[in-house]
Order: sequence, then structure tokens, then C-alpha cells
Amino acid sequence: MEACNAYYYATRDPLGAAGDFITAPEVTQMFGEMIGAALADCWKRAGAPGEAIYAELGPGRGTLARDALRVLRAARFTGAAHFVEASPVLRRAQKDLVPAGRWHDSIDTLPRRPLLLVANEFFDALPIRQFARGVERCVTVIGDELAFDRFGDITEDSPVRDRAVADIAATLGANGGVALFIDYGHDKSAPGDTLQSVRGHRFAAMLGDPGEQDLTAHVDFEAVRKAASTSGAKVSALVPQGDWLRRLGIARRAEALARANPDQEDDVNAALERLTGPDQMGALFKVIAIHAPDWPDPVGFA
Ligand code: SAH
Repeated sequence: MEACNAYYYATRDPLGAAGDFITAPEVTQMFGEMIGAALADCWKRAGAPGEAIYAELGPGRGTLARDALRVLRAARFTGAAHFVEASPVLRRAQKDLVPAGRWHDSIDTLPRRPLLLVANEFFDALPIRQFARGVERCVTVIGDELAFDRFGDITEDSPVRDRAVADIAATLGANGGVALFIDYGHDKSAPGDTLQSVRGHRFAAMLGDPGEQDLTAHVDFEAVRKAASTSGAKVSALVPQGDWLRRLGIARRAEALARANPDQEDDVNAALERLTGPDQMGALFKVIAIHAPDWPDPVGFA
């Protein structure tokens, strides 16, 4: 999964109608704006520390960063933007939208400063392991085809994901800041096979065309919570994306956008529904926050 996704992202921009999948920031500017507003509010209530920076994991085309930073700048946040991104193709796209960004290969080299960090649909792309009745499931070759070497009731874990969360939480604990993670997944660890492969906006054969399809797995937010708590960081409740965006005022933002661009009213309302509708992205996607013990609770979680 790690090797396939590394190749997949290094060799294309998979986002958009012509690609394999679409993400919330690509649907509407309102998504990044709500993230920017939530981070700006937290930063201000923390005393607006001048040394804080914006950080993002897996920023895709840089759209979320551009929209969030527009709101943060309006709130007088002047910190630099730091991106953890493996793909050279996507780094170029990010540089077009955020020319002053700084790039990192991994979380380890992010500056030791208070972070306003966001990761949207990043953790689902990190590699998981699967176990069938306690034995790790592997991929083998049968004839010319890839195949799983065992079946049975599947459980999953993701040491890579746990490490990433623990590293972020430790950095927040040591230097201050807040992190928002948005992804699809479940509140409680539970058995089940959540690995999926997507190509051209459709599910594809799991082991077909390695490196040419997007491999993801649902995020186990109970594991995220555990990994974050080991370093003493505070963890919010896990809330549906639709509820969180509405509490932040996305409906009012949609009204203002529609008023300013009357010809786009239908598009704005469709985008609002797509992000918040329980039958669309509103319930499947969830938001969780981690923050330093001496930073305030971010809004939208209670
Ligand atoms: N956050 C963006 C893109 C999501 S796709 C959006 O919402 O539109 C996943 C992103 O994570 C891509 O930018 C991909 O290149 C990056 N990525 C995946 N695995 C990574 C890894 N191990 N290290 C750094 N970046 C990674």
C-alpha cells in the first residue's frame, strides 16, 4: 500500500473531474475558509502568538491552504506556511497557489513552533496492515495475478498512522498549537475490511493495476485518540463534518457568497449540500482536533 501510493501520487495529480477522486476543498472555497476561521479563532484565543505557523499534511493541489490562509491573513496571522508533501507533481501545484510555502518530506522536520495544522484526507492514504484471525494478511502472486494469501475475519491497524499522530501530538504538547484532522472513518475500533481502491471516481479491483489506483482505508479514530493521548495532548470529540461546518457558520458564508455572485447561487447551494448533507459527505466524513494542554478548545466540537 505504501509503495503503490508513493508511486501513484508521485506520477499524477489525481484530483478533479478528469482524475480519480474529488475532495472537499476542491468542491468549494467554503471548506478551506471554515478551516481557516476555526484555526484563526483558536490562535487568537491562545493570545495570537507571533511565532505560530500554518502547517498542512498532504495538501493536494494547495486549494485548502490558499483558502484557509486567506482567512488567517485577514485575522492578522503572519506565520509561514509549511507543507508535508511527498509528491513532486503536487508540490508544483501547491507552489502555484502558495508560492511562499516551504516543503518537507516528513513531519519530523516541521519547525519547533506553535502549529496551526490541518490534514484533510491524508490519514486515509497512509498504509495499514490487515490480519485474518490474528495473522497478518499478505499479497502473493498466483500465476500472473496478485492475490491475498488468506481470508477470514479481518482486523486492521496502522503503525505508520499512529506514529504520525503521536509525532504531531508530541510537537503540539512541546510547542503549542492545534491540529484538525478530517477524514472518513469510525469512532470505535472494530473488526472489518475497509481497504478500498478507486479509479476514475469508481471502486476498482483491490489488487488491480498497482500504483495506478488510489488506495485508502477508513481511519480508526479510536486509534488516533490513543496515539494522540500518549503525549498528554488534548483530544476533542469526533464530530460529523456536516455538523462541524454548520456550527462554524458555513450556511451564512454560503448566503454571503450567493448574494455577491447571484449567477452562482445554485452552485454555492449544491456545494453546501455536498459538504454537509448527511447522505453526501456530511456524515461519512468526521472531524477531530488535538491541541496543546495550554491552548483553548477549538470551536465546533460541542
Ligand atoms: N488534502 C488534499 C489532498 C488529499 S490526497 C485534499 O483534501 O484535496 C492525499 C495527499 O497526501 C496528497 O497530497 C498526497 O500526495 C499526500 N500523501 C500521501 N501519502 C503521503 C506521505 N506518506 N507523505 C507525504 N504526503 C503524502
